Amino acid sequence: MKELNPPVRTLMGPGPSGVHPLVLKAMATPVIGHLDPGFIEIMNGTMELLREVFGTKNELTMPMSGTGSAGMETLMVNLLEPGDKIVIGVHGLFGQRMVDVASRAGAEVIPVEAAWGTPLDPAAIEAALSRHKGVKAVAVVHAETSTGVRQPLKEIADIAHRFGALFLVDCVTSLGGIPVEIDKNEVDAAYSGTQKCLSVPPGLSPVTFNEKARRAFASRKTKVQSWYLDLNMIQNYWGAERFYHHTAPVSMIYALHEGLRLIVEEGLENVFARHAINGRALWAGLEAMGLKLVVDEAYRLPELTTVYIPENIPDAEVRRRLLEQYGLEIGGGLGEFKGKVWRIGLMGYTCQKKNVMLCLGALEDVLAQLGFKVEKGAGLAAATRVWDEAGSG
Ligand SMILES: *Cc1c(COP(=O)(O)O)cnc(C)c1O
Repeated sequence: MKELNPPVRTLMGPGPSGVHPLVLKAMATPVIGHLDPGFIEIMNGTMELLREVFGTKNELTMPMSGTGSAGMETLMVNLLEPGDKIVIGVHGLFGQRMVDVASRAGAEVIPVEAAWGTPLDPAAIEAALSRHKGVKAVAVVHAETSTGVRQPLKEIADIAHRFGALFLVDCVTSLGGIPVEIDKNEVDAAYSGTQKCLSVPPGLSPVTFNEKARRAFASRKTKVQSWYLDLNMIQNYWGAERFYHHTAPVSMIYALHEGLRLIVEEGLENVFARHAINGRALWAGLEAMGLKLVVDEAYRLPELTTVYIPENIPDAEVRRRLLEQYGLEIGGGLGEFKGKVWRIGLMGYTCQKKNVMLCLGALEDVLAQLGFKVEKGAGLAAATRVWDEAGSG
């Protein structure tokens, strides 16, 4: 067999996104014991950086071993006991996945739906909480990667708390891309993933729990059904006790530490501003090419843009040509949006002006190859105007 040599790509799909070179370098440093004082210092540093990026003082803030979905499962299996009621906002694939995970944990799920491409209506959540008494938690997806919608959080947090429910949030695609502000938004527990806006490979799922959420799993009547994800044990591994639970994926923790450090070094506000302006430039470029965006600008995520596939243009063929001719990956649609939209990611390290230009130029070329009428250079010019007008780029 030949030496491993994967192709070099520009990752502008819904994740994984581009990994920062310093993160790759951190992963190539020596593996040490997971109870080595040197590693414990790195674990503590990772928790401290995570608190800063999440915008929280929550002591229990650490990465779970596993991808974003492991974080989703961590919240559900620890906070829900069989028979507990949970209201889940569903307006995309990841809301649907939360419903699946929560029902497997034995919970009674009350889904509250909104059309794909639109945000949830807080009044519908309030109505569900009035109809069903004693709901334990309300869960929503902050950044629906299947649709490109940003879900405002604070109003739903207030409603959940008025009904005595915990407020749980999926921050997988929002963390490091748009402000998450766990404490300001009064989120009780949240999870994220390393492979979206943190510029780190897939493999870890940062989670954060406030004291109220910790009391909820500490006072369970039944044992958490998953041994691997049981926070009652894992918190003693990441806490002062350092009780062995499972071996931390050492190199992935290095990667996360470095990814978070880079975000803090750039400054959270600058990171958000970079995502915002590059997102706007991409939108302007796509629209100037005659394409239609899915989500209303008020709820559009800068880090994940959904755009309708023009009529008579073959979805898979466009993506195949982008990959073959430009080494560029964009995402196709999922679920209701399968075959209808493309998903273009500008997450973390991927979120750079040069990638916006590459994507617009490559898409223009490939669409023209397939017979789509597009004015030459219009997309690039429109994007350039956005940076020019902001005096940046
Ligand atoms: C990617 C994603 C997940 C799942 O993360 P994996 O790393 O694929 O397990 C969950 N929620 C949202 C919103 C996501 O974008």
